[in-house]
Amino acid sequence: MLILDFDGTATDAEAEGVPFTKGYLQDIAEKVGWPLERVRHYYDRYMAEILAEPHEYAWMMDGLAVAPATVDPYLRIKPIARKIIREAGIDISEEELQELLTKDWYIKNYQLSGTSFRPGTMELLHALFISREPAAIVTNSHTDAVLAKIRQLAMDLGDESCSETGNNFYNWWKDRVYGRAKKYVARDEDSSMRLALPVLDRPVLCDRPHYLKVLEQLAPKDGDGRPLWSQVTVVGDIFELDGALPLSLGSRFGLLCNDMTPPYEVDFLCGHERGCVLENVHEILPLHREGRSAA
Ligand SMILES: [Mg+2]
Repeated sequence: MLILDFDGTATDAEAEGVPFTKGYLQDIAEKVGWPLERVRHYYDRYMAEILAEPHEYAWMMDGLAVAPATVDPYLRIKPIARKIIREAGIDISEEELQELLTKDWYIKNYQLSGTSFRPGTMELLHALFISREPAAIVTNSHTDAVLAKIRQLAMDLGDESCSETGNNFYNWWKDRVYGRAKKYVARDEDSSMRLALPVLDRPVLCDRPHYLKVLEQLAPKDGDGRPLWSQVTVVGDIFELDGALPLSLGSRFGLLCNDMTPPYEVDFLCGHERGCVLENVHEILPLHREGRSAA
């Protein structure tokens, strides 16, 4: 069974996030009363700062660090915006700032996001459809948003003379998209469900109850109905969200890297017997097939 993350894995999150970031910076400029160029200047400076120390910046959910805050444009903008607001000396309560960063500006500008697939996504999804291999997409996004993008791929596949191919492709994937997986909801009650990574002075939390439920549903089972985790390969672009849990369960995990991937995650996965680091989408199917023959 091959389980794929979607945003940042099938898609190019950096490219998709360009209009989001632009809109968000305009909102910041308005709030602080600066020209947009000045906000951009500080954005570039603070981005370089946080990318140099990704271990220092975490995405917090309910008081727990659940992922690096640096890995995609939607997460990264928050610590940067916070620094700009502070630099501008704006008098604002923490509550009001949170509201702007995570709700007002976030939701408004998220809708501006474009669609951009990583090279090789069409070939991968098409190859899985043709071979009818057990595969699924598990994502934090809403199922509808992912299906709309798969619909675009399907339209590219089927020109007028063979739209049936596109329809069949879409219908096959439609039943294999699991949205709202809430991979960012973590628990820290069991110390055996923590990973310690060199450089990172906080634990990586593997206990992700909502994500676990989805994975349990998808994993092949033995005669007693127990999941056969060694027969599962998961591929995603954010190690803590996509990979920490499946790796702890006994599955293989491939981290699809980009320029923002923290180096300490790469080092950790290169040293893990079931971990793997991928540079591009074309490497996913060979990784999965190699894992299947080894399981
Ligand atoms: Mg992702």
